[in-house]
Amino acid sequence: MQGNFTYHNPTKLVFGKDALDGLAAELAQYGPRVQLAYGGGSIKKTGLYDRVIAILREAGKEVFEDAGVMPNPTVEKLREGAAIARDNDVDLILAVGGGSVVDYAKAVGVSAHCEEDPWEKYYLRMEEPECRIVPVGCILTMAGTGSEMNGGAVITNHDSKLKIGHVFANPEVFPRFAILNPELTYTVPKYQMIAGIFDIMSHLMEQYFSGVDDSTSDYLMEGLMRSLVQASRAAVANPTDYEARSNIMWTATWALNTLVAKGKATDWEVHMIGQAIGAYTDATHGMTLSAVSPAYYRHIMPHGLEKFARFARTVWEVSVEGRTPEELAAAGIDALEAWMREIGCVMSVAELGVTDDMLEGIADATFIMEGGYKVLAREDVLSILRASK
Ligand code: NAP
Ligand code: FE
Repeated sequence: MQGNFTYHNPTKLVFGKDALDGLAAELAQYGPRVQLAYGGGSIKKTGLYDRVIAILREAGKEVFEDAGVMPNPTVEKLREGAAIARDNDVDLILAVGGGSVVDYAKAVGVSAHCEEDPWEKYYLRMEEPECRIVPVGCILTMAGTGSEMNGGAVITNHDSKLKIGHVFANPEVFPRFAILNPELTYTVPKYQMIAGIFDIMSHLMEQYFSGVDDSTSDYLMEGLMRSLVQASRAAVANPTDYEARSNIMWTATWALNTLVAKGKATDWEVHMIGQAIGAYTDATHGMTLSAVSPAYYRHIMPHGLEKFARFARTVWEVSVEGRTPEELAAAGIDALEAWMREIGCVMSVAELGVTDDMLEGIADATFIMEGGYKVLAREDVLSILRASK
């Protein structure tokens, strides 16, 4: 393990079929004014909205509705939500939905009492909040982002064609509590379920493919990846397989609740390319990652050969027999790609609406990270995008 670190995760997580029973006890710890943030209406269709409203009423809360949080929440919606929180002086923001709603709630929580424009302060200047932070709790309806137990909040600005994630360090930004019932994910459309599964895989690979040390975190991630591959196959075959959906949900949390990043370098370049694609197309997050991942990893593989060979051996059980390290490493990426095709990931940026005239702009909007096996130049980003068509 390299480097010094502090591990502190402040989120209290309630998991399982009865998880919603834990909501009342959490609500009791906050004042009476609750901002209820949710998305485009899936929670009304599934009946979850009514169940949550009943619990809020029973707890004597006054509810301030904040509906219509879109996938890839925008800066306009963030400003609207911050005004709701500020004008009503809410005591808690309860996010009910997927990563978009949870990310949004965190961004609202740090923006409500911030005197400056949140886009400028938190996304362009990447500053930490100095104002009072409104606490967030969440009921997660979709597995993927890990937002339920981290400080990340991704916001899109369509005017400036930028999609930026701020990973807040302040533990007060993390959800105070997260309610996770895997059964709530049964109704997630198949495309979104697969996007979520690949998002989890990508979070793990972004943290795995960096560093040359013999890190405990890498062994943890290999286990999480193996569980994910196994569970994804079962969930694709049968979306109401509780064992599979619960393993996917729990893996998503551990893939990005800060644990596996401890003591090692991390990459995040695939997310940077994916977010730039998202800023141009508003495509589903996980699919922006899947579309570029095989090309990205083939591009950087020669610079991290040993780790790619280890990935082939441990995650995909590729036989070492008769293979050079290069062949072994390449076979691992082939196995990854075969699994992606098998479960139904989007494998081309064209399918997401990326046209040739966007490529230069997407390359310009891609932030360059320094923790991976190769620090990309703009030309590298372009050639990865071209190879992902
Ligand atoms: P999402 O954008 O929250 O939701 C995608 C779609 O799934 C929505 O249309 C939503 O509909 C629907 N949905 C969610 N739960 C459902 C359910 N139980 N039944 C039926 N439909 C359901 O998806 P996400 O992948 O969780 O979040 C993506 C966002 O998170 C992106 O902006 C991405 O950049 C960000 N992200 C954050 C982190 C982080 O660390 N914080 C990491 C990776 C990505 P409704 O709107 O109608 O509910
Ligand atoms: Fe992600």
